[in-house]
Amino acid sequence: MTTQVFADLHGHAGTTFAEVLRRNPGEPEFHQAVHEVLESLGAALAKRPELADAALLERLVEPERQLMFRVPWTDDTGRVRVNRGFRVEFNGALGPYKGGLRFHPSVNLSVVKFLGFEQIFKNALTGLGIGGGKGGSDFDPKGRSDAEVMRFCQSFMTELYRHLGEHTDVPAGDIGVGGREIGYLFGQYRRITNRYETGVLTGKGLGWGGSHVRTEATGYGCVYFLAEMLRVRGEDLEGRRAVVSGSGNVSIFAIEKARELGALIVACSDSSGYIVDDKGIDLEILKDIKLNRRGRIAEYAERVPHARYVAGGSVWEVPCDVALPCATQNEIDGPTAAHLIKHGLTAVAEGANMPCDPDAVHLFREAGVAFAPGKASNAGGVATSALEMAQNAARTSWTFTDTDTRLGTIMRDIHATCLETAAEHGDEGNYVLGANIAGFLRVAEAMTAFGVV
Ligand code: NDP
Repeated sequence: MTTQVFADLHGHAGTTFAEVLRRNPGEPEFHQAVHEVLESLGAALAKRPELADAALLERLVEPERQLMFRVPWTDDTGRVRVNRGFRVEFNGALGPYKGGLRFHPSVNLSVVKFLGFEQIFKNALTGLGIGGGKGGSDFDPKGRSDAEVMRFCQSFMTELYRHLGEHTDVPAGDIGVGGREIGYLFGQYRRITNRYETGVLTGKGLGWGGSHVRTEATGYGCVYFLAEMLRVRGEDLEGRRAVVSGSGNVSIFAIEKARELGALIVACSDSSGYIVDDKGIDLEILKDIKLNRRGRIAEYAERVPHARYVAGGSVWEVPCDVALPCATQNEIDGPTAAHLIKHGLTAVAEGANMPCDPDAVHLFREAGVAFAPGKASNAGGVATSALEMAQNAARTSWTFTDTDTRLGTIMRDIHATCLETAAEHGDEGNYVLGANIAGFLRVAEAMTAFGVV
């Protein structure tokens, strides 16, 4: 990331942010995430000065606990490899720390802290009893055999298990961590502890404690939020031309739901390039390439003659009416946003965490583009994880339809909360402000009740 220039923050938010910069040098993603939240809180703090007096902001920006550990493992040639593992238990005021594990070479403390910080407010917005945390490793599962991934996961859990528990800290998946990895992690946890504690991880297989809809939840939830945001504007998804970045867990199920609601999805990507299919992406072929065979997106154009593959480019070069960024942080910057607006963009719903940088978000707002921030629009994943924990605690299992209905209700509730909170604080239609203030106030109430902890 390049050096960032932050807009001025005043008063208590300003002094808190200056201290964050001083105490956490070299962590640009974390600085960005904190700045975005602090920037939104002015109106809320003006109404509630007692929160500033209790040093709520200073406590919120400091993780309760940060773990960094060595993860040694042996590759298939017998060579010993060493990665770094992370878990940041950011805030447990509302429940056990909850948030995914990311396995990607770009993972470092800054990335894990930004994700953990976002997770506090996102989890609060769901209305469920979950605190915020995040973790992962700079391990790259791409190109590794199943046996290598298993040995890595076992080594990772051999350290992490002592910090976890269904009432303590409950990880799930994120980039590079899906059903396969959760299986290996859960297997090792059970073996070390000799406890069949299903509530310790979410995203499990359906046969051993998983929940229906967890796989689909983030992508589906994002589209439920988008549909609601359009509905209050008197619009819908029917016939809209949409682009989705990435082709992983969130992207695939966002494509599935958006297509079901009538959108035409014309492009998606992976880290090597993107494909364009003007007739609409064939989801069965995409799922076969990505979910069954762990292949590359280029193969889509080999199998679909009228589609084209662009190596190395950004999928955001493709004009669209609706954008669903579902790959990674800061994938849409100011110039990219300006290009999309010029070519007719009207709505954005973030499936990924912080995929639009502050310049992009500013331009969307200025241009009247409907904008859903990830901490609201991608909260369906963690909300369904909390539903998985509820089913585990009750030793029961709900149907797909029942769970999907609950997810839909949660997403509409989050949408309403964001809208109402933004209006109450004088900025109608500003979902960023609404999400940040509503999440903050719920956490702040609990922290205030607990005293100085
Ligand atoms: P996956 O690993 O399943 O998929 C990630 C996709 O994004 C892949 O297509 C990947 O391409 C692409 N991608 C990842 N990093 C980059 C990069 N640096 N540049 C370009 N493309 C990239 O991850 P998920 O779908 O689970 O997660 C995607 C986003 O959604 C993340 O921001 C995550 O934090 C967020 N999220 C996920 C939730 C979940 O439930 N899984 C919940 C809430 C948010 P390639 O395969 O080539 O690397």
